[in-house]
Amino acid sequence: MESANVLQLPASTKTIGKLQLGKNQVLIPEMNRSSAHLFAAALRAFAVDAQVLATGQGLELGKKYTSGKECYPCLVTLGDLLHFVEEERRRLGAAFRADRYVFFMPEAEGPCRFGMYNKYQRMVLDSFSDLQGLKISALSNTDNYSPEGLIDPQKVQPFKKAACLAMVVADVLDRLTWRVRPYEKATGLTDALAEQGLYRLMEVVERTGEGNPFDPVVGELEKILAAGHAIIDPAISPKPLIGMVGEIFLRMHRRSNQDLIRLLERHGAEVVNASMAEWLNYVSYDGLRQAKRKLRLGLRLLRPRQVKESIREMFGFGIHLLFQERTQQAVFKRARRRLDIAGDHRISDLERILKKSGDFSFDIPTEASLSIPGIIHCARNGYNGVVNVYPFTCMPGTTTSAVVRPIMHELGFPFLDTPYDDSIQPNRETAIRTFMYQARQHLQRHGRQT
Ligand code: SF4
Repeated sequence: MESANVLQLPASTKTIGKLQLGKNQVLIPEMNRSSAHLFAAALRAFAVDAQVLATGQGLELGKKYTSGKECYPCLVTLGDLLHFVEEERRRLGAAFRADRYVFFMPEAEGPCRFGMYNKYQRMVLDSFSDLQGLKISALSNTDNYSPEGLIDPQKVQPFKKAACLAMVVADVLDRLTWRVRPYEKATGLTDALAEQGLYRLMEVVERTGEGNPFDPVVGELEKILAAGHAIIDPAISPKPLIGMVGEIFLRMHRRSNQDLIRLLERHGAEVVNASMAEWLNYVSYDGLRQAKRKLRLGLRLLRPRQVKESIREMFGFGIHLLFQERTQQAVFKRARRRLDIAGDHRISDLERILKKSGDFSFDIPTEASLSIPGIIHCARNGYNGVVNVYPFTCMPGTTTSAVVRPIMHELGFPFLDTPYDDSIQPNRETAIRTFMYQARQHLQRHGRQT
C-alpha cells in the first residue's frame, strides 16, 4: 500500500463531516469491544449496514502513515481502517469501490487533538488515488454527538434512545466481567459468559432497537448478570479494589493498554474502569455549563439573540443529560439487583469534588476534569488504589498525573501512572507488582468498599 506525500494534500470537505450514512457500509472503529458492537447493532436496527472494524492488526500501517507526533489512538484507528481497506481490496479485486464505505470517526472540540484525528485520516485517505471516495462521517461534541444529518430525520429520536441504552448496557456488561473474573470458579468462565452475553445483547438490540428496546434488552442483561453471579466462588476473599481512570481510548482499548486490567487481576486486583457513559454525560454536562455561561454573558451585555440561542442550547443539552442519566440509573438499578457491580457517579458529583478541593476546574474542559475528581473519589470511597492510563505524551493524562500525585502522596493512597504507546516497557510489570503490594497493605489497614 503506497501513497503520495500525505502532508501535501488538502483534506476534502465533501468526504468528511456530518454525512448521511445511507446505504453505505459503515465502519465503526473498536475502542471498547462491547460498546462498539452494541452501537453497531443499534445502527443496524435502523437499517444502517454497520460493522465493527477488527482492531490491532493494522498497527504497522498506522505507524507507516503517521509521523510519530500524533496521538496514539489516531494511529491505531487509522491502522485499523487501512488494514480493512487492504483486506477488502484483496477480497474484491477490481470490484473494490471506496465510495461504498463510510468510516465513522467522532470528534471533540476543545484544547485536545481529538478534533484533528479525522482531518488527518482524511488527508491520508486522499493521498491514495482510489480511496478519495471513502467518506468519514463525524459526530461532534458541540451538538452532543447528535446523529441528525446521519440518518433519516424521523428516526433520530428513537435512534438516540437505542444508542444511549446500548452504551449503558455495554458498561454494565464490562462491569460484570471486572466484578466476576477475579472470583470465578474456573478460569475462563467469565470471559466466555461476557462474549456470549455480548452476542445475545446484540441480537436483542438489533431486533428491538427501532421499537421500544428497554425492557427486552435489560431483561436479557439481567439473565446474563444472574449467570455471572452463579460463577462467583464465595470462598475467595475480597481483593484490593483498584479504580482505573484516564484517557478514554487507552483505558478502553485492551490492545493499546496491553490488557492492563487482566495484568492487574493477575497480580491480585479487582478493577473498576471508568465508564463510556461518563464521557457522554460529561459532553452534555459541559455543553449545558457553557450554554449557562453564554446566557449570563448575553443578559449582562443585553444581547437578546444570544440569550435566546443560549436558552435553546441549555434546553437541548439539559434534556440529553437528563435522559442519559435516567437511562443509566434505571439500567443500573435493575442490574444491581442481580449482581453487586460498582455503580457509576454523576458528573455533577465530580464537579462538586473539584470545587471543594480547588485542585482543578471544569473550566478547563479535558478528560483531566473527569480523571482528577475520579481519583479523589476513589481515594475517599473505599478503593485501595488507582491507575491513570493514557497515551504517551497525552496532555490531559500528563496534567492529571501532575495535579494528583502530590494529593495522593499526602493521603498515602496507592497511585500509578501507566502511559502507553506500542512499545513494551520492561519495568511495567515490576511497577504493577509494587503498586499491588501497596494496595494490599491499604486493604489490610483500611478495608474496602463492599
Ligand atoms: S486526550 Fe490525549 S490522546 Fe486524546 S486527543 Fe487529547 S492529547 Fe490526544
